[in-house]
Amino acid sequence: MSEPADPTDFRGRGVGTSDSISANPVFERPGEATELPKNRMPQSESYPDTAYQIVHDEAMLDGNARLNLATFVGTWMDDFAVRLYTESADKNMIDKDEYPQTAAIETRCWTMLADLWSAADPDNAIGTSTIGSSEACMLGGLALKRRWQKRRRSEGKSTEAPNLVLSSAVQVCWEKFCNYFEVEARYVPITMEHRTLDGHELDKYVDENTIGVVAIMGVTYTGAYEPVAEISAALDRIAADTGVDVPIHVDGASGAMIAPFCQPDLVWDFRLDRVASISTSGHKYGLVYPGVGWVVWRNKAALPDELIFYVSYLGGSMPTFALNFSRPGAQVLLQYYMFLRLGSDGYTRVQQESLAVAQYLAQEIAKLPAFELWNDGSDIPVFAWMLKKGYTDKWTLYDLSDRLRMKGWLVPAYPMPDDLADVTVQRIVVRNGLSHDLATALLAEIKTEVDFLDRLETPIPREGQPVLFHH
Ligand SMILES: *Cc1c(COP(=O)(O)O)cnc(C)c1O
Repeated sequence: MSEPADPTDFRGRGVGTSDSISANPVFERPGEATELPKNRMPQSESYPDTAYQIVHDEAMLDGNARLNLATFVGTWMDDFAVRLYTESADKNMIDKDEYPQTAAIETRCWTMLADLWSAADPDNAIGTSTIGSSEACMLGGLALKRRWQKRRRSEGKSTEAPNLVLSSAVQVCWEKFCNYFEVEARYVPITMEHRTLDGHELDKYVDENTIGVVAIMGVTYTGAYEPVAEISAALDRIAADTGVDVPIHVDGASGAMIAPFCQPDLVWDFRLDRVASISTSGHKYGLVYPGVGWVVWRNKAALPDELIFYVSYLGGSMPTFALNFSRPGAQVLLQYYMFLRLGSDGYTRVQQESLAVAQYLAQEIAKLPAFELWNDGSDIPVFAWMLKKGYTDKWTLYDLSDRLRMKGWLVPAYPMPDDLADVTVQRIVVRNGLSHDLATALLAEIKTEVDFLDRLETPIPREGQPVLFHH
């Protein structure tokens, strides 16, 4: 991974280092500027087609989304979705009064999710769309914090030092939540023996100041599910022993749109009484373009009233709970479109296909002598692998990642968190659109590049530092 020397110098990133952009001479017209500054607003106007061409050409340098196996986020929707998207690009989600139908559709969507996630009474659940899982997790966390504060105040106890218990492999949105909303993050380190938060020694982390425990359905690093039922059972034991009764928020950014369709018998959702709220990214396995997430509380009691604001709606008012005010409404319509278009059967088919491709890739990668799987893509269609201990000191997974990038494939390698920081993994996220055929092509590239690296006579040179990577 080639980080720039100064990590705060974000202006230098991207292709091209000059301070200005030249318009393509094909589009040059008399009187129009041909050089536009990059970091200052140009003084004069451009023709729309010139400006369009510049932005279009720059965006093209972003690379080919199909070959990007690093992202979880949707990179393809069908033509009808694109048509809906353009038709509804002007809708503002917060203008419930102006766009009452979009507001109604938002409610239909999260009610469907409440049902999908086994809420006892979906019509009595409460939820909202968000800009993504990050906002959804913040809202889930805020509700946990406020519920804890209210209970503590009613008991005449201190609310000075709230803490949240989570795995060291949480997504960065939880670090943000704890930082921005001043909650102590109690990270339970993952280890080779306990590869996810599984309830082991939870009593060492939970106390009367614990606002909640986060369980991740589909750990971002590896795709593995955290066993929510085991975490819940551990919390039941803690409640029985100490009286400390702690709710769970399930961060189902990916898995909450996989498990209901592909692992219906896995108990992870509102079937567990401790699960107060569940969030997901509509733009991950919800199969929508970037810009939509969802959070649902099991019932109205789980979301304290004081967090709710009211906006005008059809002469009355409508409750909202959000960090943002204005935001695009189009993505919510796209989510509804996908729910109608695919239904439960369609989602099952699409997700099962992704799982099949992920498991095929994992099995084939496991056959290569260089590698050892971390997991096999049987939870969400995501898996990670490691370089086998003692296999080579000539190359690392970072080198393989670089070699694959030369062929256009983005397959990231990175260290695991904290206690496992000396373990490097490489990960593939299979999304709808990575066909079996494309997967076969990728495998061939991986084999070719591993062969190339194996045949090197000396280790890949590193810039002024020894090989970073030891098992
Ligand atoms: C992706 C992800 C998030 C953040 O989701 P966004 O929709 O990108 O904001 C949070 N948690 C987990 C487990 C994730 O995988």
